Amino acid sequence: MTAPSLFWSPLVATLHPYVPGEQPRIAGLVKLNTNENPYPPSQAVIDAITQAAADGLERYPDPESLAVREAVARRHGLTVDQVFAGNGSDEVLAHAFQAFFCHPGQALLVPDITYSFYRVYAQLYGIELGVMPLDEGLCVDVPALAARAAQGCAGIVLANPNAPTGQGLPLADIETLLQACPDRVVLVDEAYVDFGGTSAVALLARYPNLLVVHTLSKSRALAGLRVGFAMGQAPLIDGLTRVKDSFNSYPLDRLATAGAVAALDDQAWFDRACAAVIASREQLAQQLTALGFEVLPSQANFLFVRHPAHDAARLAAALRERAVLVRHFSQARIAQYLRISIGTPAQCDRLVSALTEIFKAV
Ligand SMILES: *Cc1c(COP(=O)(O)O)cnc(C)c1O
Repeated sequence: MTAPSLFWSPLVATLHPYVPGEQPRIAGLVKLNTNENPYPPSQAVIDAITQAAADGLERYPDPESLAVREAVARRHGLTVDQVFAGNGSDEVLAHAFQAFFCHPGQALLVPDITYSFYRVYAQLYGIELGVMPLDEGLCVDVPALAARAAQGCAGIVLANPNAPTGQGLPLADIETLLQACPDRVVLVDEAYVDFGGTSAVALLARYPNLLVVHTLSKSRALAGLRVGFAMGQAPLIDGLTRVKDSFNSYPLDRLATAGAVAALDDQAWFDRACAAVIASREQLAQQLTALGFEVLPSQANFLFVRHPAHDAARLAAALRERAVLVRHFSQARIAQYLRISIGTPAQCDRLVSALTEIFKAV
């Protein structure tokens, strides 16, 4: 960490910023560390961005991001006033934390093992956390969470499917949580839902306290474009909009808008890409099991695995020497696990041969 500066506001020195997976420049790299889509996005996206680049960059974009919100509304059977769009779902999450979870004296409930940005936002906005341990099988302990929520809380944040475990909850469990804290927001981050999870969007009409957050970074292969959105009843969307308009009027630029609309409207590309990732995931799970790994059931575009005979940090380092990047978290409970993003079939083969080679050498 860099030394604190005299010029910083006091809060800045206390922050523990999020550390993203590395994006190194290594020739022939097999990059399975940040859950990006291994396929390039739809050609319709490239065409739309090219067109937009030639047309109107001297003008500000639409501050209401109506075109993107309409495309989301079309796809999910919602109205525009039920959709909020932002510069990546990380930004949408940050606004949601500020809009809904700052209730002094009450704790925001989060699982102990989950997307680590939640802790970062809580610290940034001075939100106290109630950390709820996953159960033995690394699943969200819904009864414990609901019981804790019923005693009063600032809200609940969950990734479903969870990251980095890949395990998902059925909608009945989400409903249990929504009913346990009817006067606080339950935020369901569905960054990975398109790879086999069940979306809580179906519950939106019945629960005014539900906010569902999606991203184009994973299933639409647009991590580089930075587009995410939230879906909820209009009063929640109004709250997000008030925060956004106190922060940045134009989170979605013209290129991102054009690309996002084209992506959301290309159902055929989406269906093909998700099916390809899911098929590779199932095959890789079998191959890793054959190599002796324990593989958690995954509804996401990654696998969370551990090997009873090989230290996870050392395996990650040995893979890196062979130009294969996977993600290791030096965190209690999961320090012996690796999170492996699903690549193309050729990239998965490179991973399996590298592992086979490493196991032979020891
Ligand atoms: C990748 C990821 C995000 C961030 O998505 P962006 O839209 O790229 O900011 C949010 N939540 C979870 C759980 C993720 O894994």
